[in-house]
Amino acid sequence: MAVCEKCGAELTHDEVGLYRKIVLREAETFLCIPCLAEKFCVPEEDLRSMVERFKRAGCQLFSAV
Ligand SMILES: [Zn+2]
Repeated sequence: MAVCEKCGAELTHDEVGLYRKIVLREAETFLCIPCLAEKFCVPEEDLRSMVERFKRAGCQLFSAV
């Protein structure tokens, strides 16, 4: 299970996918959504809706549901 590089929180598949999608495609270390929001100075909510949008677009970095 991947954990956040900064706070050590366990990461969901979505958080790993989002990091790969918006930060680095080949990333091996990741940040959780709260830490990512802090890093980019954006609301967590924006990142979460971004995940939903990528999922709806069928992005393969996200779990197919
Ligand atoms: Zn974190």
